[in-house]
Amino acid sequence: MIVKIITTGVIFENCILIFDENKKEVLVIDPGADGDKIEEEIKGYELKGILATHGHIDHVGQVGYLKSKFPNAPFYLNEKDTFLINNELFPNFRKLLKAAECPKPDILIKEGSTIKFGRFNFYVIETPGHSPGSVCFYDNDYQILITGDTIFKGSIGRTDLPGGSERDLALSLQKLLLLPDETQIIPGHGEVSSLKYEKIYNRDMLELIQSAKVDIFKDLIKQNNST
Ligand SMILES: [Zn+2]
Repeated sequence: MIVKIITTGVIFENCILIFDENKKEVLVIDPGADGDKIEEEIKGYELKGILATHGHIDHVGQVGYLKSKFPNAPFYLNEKDTFLINNELFPNFRKLLKAAECPKPDILIKEGSTIKFGRFNFYVIETPGHSPGSVCFYDNDYQILITGDTIFKGSIGRTDLPGGSERDLALSLQKLLLLPDETQIIPGHGEVSSLKYEKIYNRDMLELIQSAKVDIFKDLIKQNNST
């Protein structure tokens, strides 16, 4: 198995490619821009699925392009972000990213869904805040966490876009902090990191959690009591 990160488009979005060399299969996560570059990278491999950490156009801008080349590859997304997939977000953003019309997801994912690919077992952790349907993909054996725009090395995702919420983001970040320190973070933009590093150096995260005055445990108890 090989995990490769390629930076795409004008805002340097990380598209993650996971190769199963034995089976000659590939999984693509967050194909935001440069569809032709992604296609070139995965040449010779069968595309088995397209995953999106959330519905923003800089993360799903090439789903339509890849589906036109590999019609059988299912597109996975949390339903709560379906309303965003063709929202331009900023004037001319679609054009800048050369984004194709994004098709509806084939497979709806939510908290607890698992996506098996080769030796990886990605567990879906819902992390709303940056967008209502943001998720992280976590593999417990390899301790890899693919975070989209929820957390970056040294910073956190913005909450001023449609459906964003500071309070939700604070809760989601608290949830991620429960994972092991050794967890490697692959964010949607910028360099890779580790949870241990972020626990010490991510001031934005620590300040948000403190200022939002949220307690994930209280919220989880409330949720359990209401269902
Ligand atoms: Zn985003």
